[in-house]
Amino acid sequence: MKPRRDFAQHWLRSDKALSSIIKAAELKSDDKVLEIGPGKGVLTRQLLEHVKSLVAVEIDKDLCELLVKKLGEEENFLLLNGDFLSLDLAALVKEFPVFQNQNKVVANIPYNITGPIIEKLLGKIGSPNPQPYDLIVLLVQKEVAERIVAKPGRTSFGALSVRVQYLADCQMICTVPAKAFYPPPKVDSAVIKLTPTEREVVAKNPRKLETLVKLGFSAKRKMLRNNLQSIVERDNLTQLLEKLSVNPQARAEELSVMQWVSLANELENQDA
Ligand code: SAH
Repeated sequence: MKPRRDFAQHWLRSDKALSSIIKAAELKSDDKVLEIGPGKGVLTRQLLEHVKSLVAVEIDKDLCELLVKKLGEEENFLLLNGDFLSLDLAALVKEFPVFQNQNKVVANIPYNITGPIIEKLLGKIGSPNPQPYDLIVLLVQKEVAERIVAKPGRTSFGALSVRVQYLADCQMICTVPAKAFYPPPKVDSAVIKLTPTEREVVAKNPRKLETLVKLGFSAKRKMLRNNLQSIVERDNLTQLLEKLSVNPQARAEELSVMQWVSLANELENQDA
């Protein structure tokens, strides 16, 4: 079966990468796992050995037929044919208690929809997933992985870093070279582990934080105060930044996630 480019199909063929993914997922016999894009089932097969149940969502009908042939006998396996982004998982597994309320996600996902997948798994700052997973282990492009785990001050630290790090602890597990796949993608990849958590200091108005981050990073080279011009008066922002021990001339990428939250909360207090 020829790998389809429109579905971002790249088969993982590295045992080393597979075992890194399995290890990072810290699988237990009562885990209920979700896999997005099982493909030909290399990861699927290994997951099934460790867990109580596995739900896999695959968009490609031909692959689904192949997977049924390969793994259809496994009692703890439920395969759904559809687009992960648009299907209502909870509704589809309603009749199958053993497959409900998955607590972990482990997947080598299609790279063309990495952002939307992460957003569906974690939710947004303003509307976090009300039933967060215990753990999410994903194979993604290395460049995206670097942005997700980036520390403030780094060039890769951007709106994505703040959005994901606000909702989850983020860890880089390992890099995976392009040649670990068939066909090799244009870029290297990396395994990341996201552990959804509640922050010590939470945003009083999460939607405000969401807007602030989006605007703050809208033009990366510019100073924060220029990017935020439309919502905060310049002198006011200077004072707030000084209060938070941030250089008033700072760019967006210099603020830590906690400083973003504090800034949003200061603004919320003023508006209240
Ligand atoms: N996990 C497999 C395949 C990874 S390639 C492996 O490691 O080898 C990405 C997989 O995601 C492909 O099987 C592709 O068909 C599937 N896919 C692409 N878009 C999808 C979507 N919107 N929903 C579900 N699966 C999708």
